[in-house]
Amino acid sequence: MFSLEELRQTPALLKLDLYCRGMRILSSCDGGNDTGRGVLRTRAGLGSGLEIILPHGLWTNVPVTEGFAKSSPYALHRENDQFLLMRGSEIVAPVQLSPRPKWYDKLTTSGKKMTRVGTLQGTYLAIYPAKVCDYWVQKPDKVNCRFCSVGLNLGVDDDTVKSVEEVMEVVRAARAESKITYVDFNTGHYEGDTYLDLLEPYITRIKKETGLLVGVQTPPHPDLGRYDKLRAMGVNRVSFCFEIFDRERFREVCPGKHAQYGMDRYLDAIRYCASLADRGPATEPWVVNGEIIAGLESPESSIRAINWVTSVGAVPTVCVFRPLAGTDYAKLPPPDPEPLVPVFRRLYEACMEAGLPIGCAPNIHVSLVMLPEECKELSTRHYRWQELKLAALKRGLGWYLNRRFTKAEARA
Ligand code: SF4
Repeated sequence: MFSLEELRQTPALLKLDLYCRGMRILSSCDGGNDTGRGVLRTRAGLGSGLEIILPHGLWTNVPVTEGFAKSSPYALHRENDQFLLMRGSEIVAPVQLSPRPKWYDKLTTSGKKMTRVGTLQGTYLAIYPAKVCDYWVQKPDKVNCRFCSVGLNLGVDDDTVKSVEEVMEVVRAARAESKITYVDFNTGHYEGDTYLDLLEPYITRIKKETGLLVGVQTPPHPDLGRYDKLRAMGVNRVSFCFEIFDRERFREVCPGKHAQYGMDRYLDAIRYCASLADRGPATEPWVVNGEIIAGLESPESSIRAINWVTSVGAVPTVCVFRPLAGTDYAKLPPPDPEPLVPVFRRLYEACMEAGLPIGCAPNIHVSLVMLPEECKELSTRHYRWQELKLAALKRGLGWYLNRRFTKAEARA
């Protein structure tokens, strides 16, 4: 177990440890004015916890409802309106609940609770705009990814139908109050590969009316030319979740993805999309992500995945496996954090060695994963020249985008 000293000095270790061990919420937190965002089951799995902000501004979503969290060494305690993260009788660190925006309690004009349309994950707006992934309803046997909870969330905390108007209302509310800069769309698999067709009307309106950054996470479309079109539309991020780099494990953990697409389709799409960086509007940043789950294969295999993704010019997204209540993997133990440290160290180092644009977009804090730049303190290597380049890029991009968003708001 990490020492308290290590956890206090290196918030990335604390974020990782909380993903793996979860947290209990003590009765001292009951009542009071500051209730945070509550616990909402959204996305394919990782949004099930409590959103809090750790020291050094690390936003995180801490498991609190799963079985393993009930025996966590960590506990959230409130004392004089200050939230403290405890381990036994020791204070690990003061923390904040992620602020609950007023729009969380508002309704759309159509009468839907806005959180059933979209929710904040960290500081960006996340939307799962369509019906449940077809893998959850396939007959005779479901072929959903074994860790995934999408089929348990939709219709519970997340609505199954979200019109473009409803999404636009929530985007505007989230921009006005929460100052979001980025909207992320996520879909599962749909027969006929309709996922990009479904998303394009939302993307067009958001780009035209707000100028916000927009990303999509879908299966890899068979027509790679569709990504040229997305790039031309001003989409800023495409993300492909192949989850597992070990092909045998991929087949076991993601039977639907394996049968329908196969790992190579994911890798081809990542490689192709990364090649579009210089082939689109210069005013639109472009990032390609390859997403994996650490803890469902060996750390060595996760590191191989990181090395492959960065080698083609894409940025790895590394989630930590969470055995979510109700899923096929609910009874598996969460991963041990210690063996995952080299994975997250490599995440930072590989991005810096490949000169990838990490941590540059304004006001994007991600609660569901450890961002590459958050893992800097896990490494003893220095990349001074690359850090200078990233700092300059961040300043320029922040200035340009904030101006663009403000102009769009003035026009609205
Ligand atoms: S593709 Fe897999 S992870 Fe994605 S929604 Fe479907 S079952 Fe869940």
